[in-house]
Amino acid sequence: MAKNYKTYDIHCASCSKYLLTYHKYGAGKGILRLYFKNIVAPKEMVLLLQQNDYHSIKDVPNLHCPECNAFIGSPAISKGQKWVFKMRKGYFHRKLVKN
Ligand SMILES: [Zn+2]
Repeated sequence: MAKNYKTYDIHCASCSKYLLTYHKYGAGKGILRLYFKNIVAPKEMVLLLQQNDYHSIKDVPNLHCPECNAFIGSPAISKGQKWVFKMRKGYFHRKLVKN
């Protein structure tokens, strides 16, 4: 079965620290928001975001670089009522992972 997503590693633009791995679905080229359910690594972040420990999107902390503390993204609810990080343009790099 063909995969209908691409895998990207997301890195901090300031210090190049690895932040997370993301499965991007659909044809759009840019990454404007990260759907929590499509964040697949690191494990600690996946568990944190998907265990439903958060009662409200307001409880979710901003996405910061663990190395240099750069502010990378902020939690929000998409038009489709999905929880996402709205990503700050220019503050992260993405790298396509060849599977
Ligand atoms: Zn950084």
